Amino acid sequence: MINISKNKCIGCGLCIDKCPVNAISINKKGFAVVDKNKCINCGLCIQTCPQKAIIDIKEKLIFAIGTDNSKIIKQDGHVGMSKYYLIYQYLEGKLIFKEKRENIKYQEDERLIHGDPEKAKKVGAVLKDVNVLVGKRIGPNISRLKNKFVPVIIREPEIKKAIKIIKQNINEIIEEKNKSERCGIILK
Ligand code: SF4
Ligand code: SF4
Repeated sequence: MINISKNKCIGCGLCIDKCPVNAISINKKGFAVVDKNKCINCGLCIQTCPQKAIIDIKEKLIFAIGTDNSKIIKQDGHVGMSKYYLIYQYLEGKLIFKEKRENIKYQEDERLIHGDPEKAKKVGAVLKDVNVLVGKRIGPNISRLKNKFVPVIIREPEIKKAIKIIKQNINEIIEEKNKSERCGIILK
């Protein structure tokens, strides 16, 4: 599925000229948008865009959002200490809730120091199939697991609003996922 990043598009219109089926237009905000019903996935617009704003998202992605109450992203600690992870699947432009997973390692255990590698392993087991981990703060435990999933920091506490932010920044998240050296990304 072709997706255009609003963060990168400058509305130059070069992709519109290239599209053989007139699937692209410029919206009221000045960004290019794709009509998914018309697009035949030829990829010509991707090669044309000077901003590298267009990507073809073929893959299914699994997101985990750390929370203690299912409404707000965990605020008072690292995402690895969340009570639960809300699991969402991203496919063809939709981010759909799948399940709520309990963090088996969640406990107020003072003996566990931050950065304990054993703790990281346990959290990693809960998140075994996850591609993107979303939280307000990423601790040293999770930083160790960057090769397993993309850490995404979102400042917006409300999960409903965070979902919109994820969708708006999906190109950037996928680009980060495909890097050999991941740093993670911060979204407002
Ligand atoms: S992939 Fe091809 S058909 Fe689809 S929007 Fe781009 S140029 Fe048009
Ligand atoms: S070519 Fe790229 S920057 Fe130009 S309008 Fe299309 S998506 Fe936007």
